[in-house]
Amino acid sequence: MVVDRREEILPKYWYNIIPDLPKPLPPPRDPPDAEFSRIDLLRKIMPKEVLRQQFTVERFVKIPEEVRNGYLNIGRPTPLLRAKRLEEKLGTPAKIYFKFEGATPTGSHKINTAMPQAYFAKNEGVEHVVTETGAGQWGTAVALSASMFSMKSTVFMVKVSYEQKPQRRTIMQLYGGEVYASPTKLTEFGRKILDENPSHPGSLGIAMSEAIEYALNNDYRYLVGSVLDVAILHQSVIGQESLAQFEEYGEDPDILIGCVGGGSNFGGFAFPFLGSKIGKKFIAVGSYEIPKFSQGNYIYDFPDSAGLLPLVKMVTLGKDYVPPPIYAGGLRYHGAAPSLSLLLKERIVEWREYSEPEIFEAAKIFAEAQGIVPAPESAHAIKAVIDEALKAKKEGEKKVIAFNLSGHGLLDLPNYELMMKRLSK
Ligand SMILES: *Cc1c(COP(=O)(O)O)cnc(C)c1O
Repeated sequence: MVVDRREEILPKYWYNIIPDLPKPLPPPRDPPDAEFSRIDLLRKIMPKEVLRQQFTVERFVKIPEEVRNGYLNIGRPTPLLRAKRLEEKLGTPAKIYFKFEGATPTGSHKINTAMPQAYFAKNEGVEHVVTETGAGQWGTAVALSASMFSMKSTVFMVKVSYEQKPQRRTIMQLYGGEVYASPTKLTEFGRKILDENPSHPGSLGIAMSEAIEYALNNDYRYLVGSVLDVAILHQSVIGQESLAQFEEYGEDPDILIGCVGGGSNFGGFAFPFLGSKIGKKFIAVGSYEIPKFSQGNYIYDFPDSAGLLPLVKMVTLGKDYVPPPIYAGGLRYHGAAPSLSLLLKERIVEWREYSEPEIFEAAKIFAEAQGIVPAPESAHAIKAVIDEALKAKKEGEKKVIAFNLSGHGLLDLPNYELMMKRLSK
């Protein structure tokens, strides 16, 4: 009889790093002179269970059966694969493994938290969820998650992206999502912006303000992407599966690597390995163009550029920092999640920052070796993997390197085309 190992590998619990941090996590708080309480606002717009999980100190949080079925439905567990051709190409004695989150239908890890958040909204009788999206990965995950539980979704998409990334918009609409180019006339906030400048290109902060206002006015629920630690909790399904899959390979990784926008795919992948961290190295990779690791401060700041969420202590370039327009849209974020920030400060997690030409070259090496076109975000992790593999070669060490391939880059081909043109000049 053939046994379906998928159900065994898929975890029954999410792993929460909070109780295992070396120091207590500084709690979220309201700004001292606040005209309204951000924490009360969260209570009104987030599904209750999501908010409870945001503040829980339980080490393991049960994954509801419906959500486990949802994970199976989107093809979880995702594969943990060995990049043997890449090893050969680099001539390294290191073994390289990658967890392939590009294998989900939406092409990235984001659905791992969008789907449970949608479920918890549905479970409290809500029929409609709202969010904002920049490049579109998060909105895509929300649109599919809503339709998986027969709910409606509204996505406020930053106007420039809405115009420049029509493919993402189309996917959201195919999933049944209503997509609007933000600023819109649907909200007071949007109307105010449009009155001042009818051709405003939009921003993530504006789109988020609109999404929150829209959710509040209609008693819908708002789903939050990567800024809060609850997203890392849900993303721990990546690392938990990887632990079981490494056991099947009879391997134990020495080095764990992931790219960081807000920190959800890195944390989700790497944190479950922290329990057995003796001798392990953790590398969080950011963008050189958005230098939060090298130049950010560890302070209380708004996790969102709209300033609507409670202050959290994080490594940040400041909520008003305007990131330059790099191709890796998912890394254009001013800070890192509070739990990851603390681990960076305690030097349990190391960091790297790479520039666009460097990550493009890494993406090309990987695509040629393994056939997978990585998302530009994920290519940051690949660059660190290549550096570590070459270091192992120089030192003659048989390291096991593992990284999270957070998404595929098949919707980023226009970006790759531009990059190829730019670099061939
Ligand atoms: C959104 C995104 C990221 C960055 O977000 P995190 O919260 O840091 O994981 C990385 N890779 C891909 C493919 C993304 O879509």
